[in-house]
Amino acid sequence: MSRPCDVCQGHKVLPAPDQKSWVTCPICDGAGQASAKELYEYDVPFNLAANAANVPFSVQVTSYDFECYFWNYQSAGAFSVSISDTNRYNFMNAPVRVETTFGTAQNPFLMIKKHVFVKNSVIQGSLNELSGAANAGHLTFIGANLLR
Ligand SMILES: [Zn+2]
Repeated sequence: MSRPCDVCQGHKVLPAPDQKSWVTCPICDGAGQASAKELYEYDVPFNLAANAANVPFSVQVTSYDFECYFWNYQSAGAFSVSISDTNRYNFMNAPVRVETTFGTAQNPFLMIKKHVFVKNSVIQGSLNELSGAANAGHLTFIGANLLR
């Protein structure tokens, strides 16, 4: 016996962030059935001095493999970012301005391909302050814990 997906209620799709279209439910992968995934979010707070360069960040993936769907940010000013995983897979060839790859909660960046950060691995990278002033904020990595 299976039960409907807790997130899409078996409809297999969810409203897109623009509320004008639909996207495949990322929790059940469009199956409409309950899956062994639960929403989860890793938060990376940061506090950068003006023009600070190559400031490392890291967050350990605990308890479960983590399938990432979105990366979002909030900040006081401009900065650039590079991201890699424990296996040294680099998501970009050079630091990129945050607004070119991260979204916001209201308009999240939907990753073209989900990436699984395996249990006990580390989401890591570095930040470069670009506004010329002290700059605090958060990076958030949003997805699902794979409970299987
Ligand atoms: Zn679903």
